Amino acid sequence: MADLLASLNPEQTQAVTLPPQHALILAGAGSGKTRVLTTRIAWLVETGQLDPHAVLAVTFTNKAAKEMLARLSVMLPISLRGMWMGTFHGLCNRLLRAHHKDAGLPALFQILDSADQLASIKRLLKTLNVDDEKYPPRELQHFINAQKEQGVRAAAVEAYDDFTRRRVALYAEYEAQCQRESVVDFAELLLRTYELLTRNEPVRRHYQRRFRHILVDEFQDTNVLQYRWLKLLATGDADTPGACLFCVGDDDQSIYRFRGAEVGNMLAFEREFKVPNVIRLEQNYRSCGNILDAANAIIAHNTQRLGKQLWTDRGEGEPIRVYQAFTDLDEARWVVDEVQSLVRDGMSRADIALLYRSNAQSRVLEHQLFSAGVSYRVYGGLRFFERQEVKHALAYLRLIANPDDDTAFARVANFPTRGIGARSMEALQDAARTFNGSLYGTVPHLSGKPRKALEPFVALIEQLRQQTAGLPLPEAVEHVLDGSGLRVHYLSLKEKDGRERLENLDELISAANNFVAENEAPTAGADHPLLADFLAHASLEAGDHQADAGEDAVQLMTVHAAKGLEFDAVFLSGVEEGLFPHENSAREVDGLEEERRLMYVAVTRARRRLYVSLAQSRMLHGQTRYCVRSRFLDEIPVGLTKWLSPAQPVRAVQERSGAYATPRASSVHARGAPARDLGGLRIGQAVQHARFGVGTIVSAEGSGADARVQINFGPQGMKWLLLGVAKLDPV
Ligand code: ATP
Ligand code: MG
Repeated sequence: MADLLASLNPEQTQAVTLPPQHALILAGAGSGKTRVLTTRIAWLVETGQLDPHAVLAVTFTNKAAKEMLARLSVMLPISLRGMWMGTFHGLCNRLLRAHHKDAGLPALFQILDSADQLASIKRLLKTLNVDDEKYPPRELQHFINAQKEQGVRAAAVEAYDDFTRRRVALYAEYEAQCQRESVVDFAELLLRTYELLTRNEPVRRHYQRRFRHILVDEFQDTNVLQYRWLKLLATGDADTPGACLFCVGDDDQSIYRFRGAEVGNMLAFEREFKVPNVIRLEQNYRSCGNILDAANAIIAHNTQRLGKQLWTDRGEGEPIRVYQAFTDLDEARWVVDEVQSLVRDGMSRADIALLYRSNAQSRVLEHQLFSAGVSYRVYGGLRFFERQEVKHALAYLRLIANPDDDTAFARVANFPTRGIGARSMEALQDAARTFNGSLYGTVPHLSGKPRKALEPFVALIEQLRQQTAGLPLPEAVEHVLDGSGLRVHYLSLKEKDGRERLENLDELISAANNFVAENEAPTAGADHPLLADFLAHASLEAGDHQADAGEDAVQLMTVHAAKGLEFDAVFLSGVEEGLFPHENSAREVDGLEEERRLMYVAVTRARRRLYVSLAQSRMLHGQTRYCVRSRFLDEIPVGLTKWLSPAQPVRAVQERSGAYATPRASSVHARGAPARDLGGLRIGQAVQHARFGVGTIVSAEGSGADARVQINFGPQGMKWLLLGVAKLDPV
């Protein structure tokens, strides 16, 4: 036991060794929150106060859950099998599988990830002939999820206008469709479990008695429903006291407000549970001083904070390296060069992370890494289980597990093409509505051409089901890849595209193999052992599979996905206005502060080295954008940074009031930019351009034939123009 506590500071020790009671640990990044949470479980178990069976630990990602389990097994040389540890979604899935009848679901219910959910909503709108311009599917999806996350069913939504009433009616139709198809979306996993626990007393009591300690990491990002779920489980009854809730979090790292996360839960928890102890940890063990100072300086610009101080005794370390490239391609080249030099100096690739605000930014980085032969792994993004060909294969498997899964049916009925036209599909959908049945079940009720077109598909699924019955999972997957015609289809595609897709299909067999190795078959003699679990895993754990491969690889991910992780060196690219802070955030209340918290998360991932980069122009979504550097970069005190790009450019100061006001010429400051021969022009001068109109020169680079000026054309945006080419007339 002494060993467990030996390396903790006094506040951490206090938190780990609290008596059985509710506790809130409110502390900044890298202060040891996750370590404290893990050590507390180990300490409680080792001191005989807790059976692993009675632990419920909630983490934010599957990767985090796995890491926690790995750390625990080092600390505790006992079996941790009975312990419930995972994400909210994973834990709810487990609960619903165990009590599916009570929850009104078939044993083999399927999970819709958000892309499946969107497809399902689109299909619904089409069936109901709803104008999708008036009711855009994405907005409807957001509306439905937001209701569910508040715990509100369609029947309970209060609607005061026709538009909302119609949306609520569509929500109700969507609920009915999911129930018919035996599918649940992510928000439903939570809501269904919550309803099960509130309505079914024996089940609720069972879990209330079972879990003695509930520990929650990243508590600041729980939503309303998750908090209610926790409260319910932590509540006792006449015979048994409730579980102790141990929550750790950091309000400055709340970055999922767009998904309904409520920082207010921290305050509500303290109040409602009369938490006797709020412990603050202030020493940061992760980052060197300069990095920590930068993070502190950035987050200090936010107004809505609970307030914390962080310090480190690791020394100031190296300055933050900043690089401004001409284009996103140059930026990526520079990043990869630096990565290679770190690796040459002995840093392992897995200790290097490339972070970005938007998934789309990964493409150019991946390309450069690939060309340079640096192995890398992407977390998130278009993850393995989300790739088109993998989803097609999974759809066949889903139909085998559950023929009522209409999303899967619609996805592959005519893929590979087998002569089922849009007309036949429409006829089927109409008939399914009339019969109130699934697409699959309705085919025998059709007549004429549609029936002729669709019957062979149903027969194919039937045949695949029979042929795979009793086969081990990987063999079943392999059989389906062949029997469905998918493999032949991708073989027929030429060149790289088809090859990559075939590799991914093969990878699915490996995924099934791994899955079998990690999971015991729950029911001996089942027709399709582990199939439903494997499909649930594919929906829930998308992406994890890449991370587990043993190879030493550079880690690529969005800032959101990097939460809770740490790396020796972090590269943060695309630090530009409109990208980070993201332009969408300007429309949201608190949008800018949320972006800043995200920036704080990004910076605090770095242990030793932080690189920040930006490009003057960037190809994104097929368009070239001219970029202005991010205000967040200017919030880092100058003394902490070291510019690596040849010229330290001038940045136009942003209006602080309007989130994205255009820079004004009057507020331009030239931070040490040397005077240049600009052909008679000067910084701050107004000029006329034939295409862009009147603008103001805000900075300049290069000289002679290469001289370029950056001009703020107001509504037309910022442009870099070559002086020798652009015709500019002084105004
Ligand atoms: P985040 O807010 O990013 O999730 P956190 O507060 O959960 O961070 P941890 O990940 O638990 O922080 O810890 C950060 C790093 O500091 C880890 O490498 C951890 O092992 C180390 N650490 C924590 N406490 C101590 C300590 N007392 N002595 C030495 N190292 C420590
Ligand atoms: Mg943590």
